[in-house]
Amino acid sequence: MKVGFFLWLLNQEKLLTQDNLQRRGWNFPNHCYLCEEETETVRHLFIECKYSKEVWNGISDGTGQHWNAPLTIKEILTRKRANDLNSKGKELWNPLQVATCWCLWKARNEVYFNGNKAHTQKIVKDIKVQALLWVSGNGCFKGITCKFGVLNWKLLFFDPP
Ligand SMILES: [Zn+2]
Repeated sequence: MKVGFFLWLLNQEKLLTQDNLQRRGWNFPNHCYLCEEETETVRHLFIECKYSKEVWNGISDGTGQHWNAPLTIKEILTRKRANDLNSKGKELWNPLQVATCWCLWKARNEVYFNGNKAHTQKIVKDIKVQALLWVSGNGCFKGITCKFGVLNWKLLFFDPP
């Protein structure tokens, strides 16, 4: 699935999560593959799941903006950034929100299809790398490797004092 199509489905809460499959007539017990406790819905998977919350907290660290769980998926995708970010931080902010949703969905699928569950710290790193890859063509990211970006995460958002 391409990320644009994923976002379109996500925005309409039409991703094929288990509740949506059940609505289409599939019959099976529904449980979240990430926390293994709650029922899987789009909202649970991206907002309410304790596993996803850990991931959101991980990517928010250093960006000057805490993760206050929004009420809707649309609010995630229009999440406000801190006012005082430097130019790189401003460019990175939106791709970072998209990368988080995208990588959470991929992490969920990795458990669903392959039975491989990753630690939240690994997902957080994958998200940072994905977001950095998306902005790597932008002028102000010239010469910044993903490795450097992940290791110097806070410097991408705030200039040193
Ligand atoms: Zn869950």
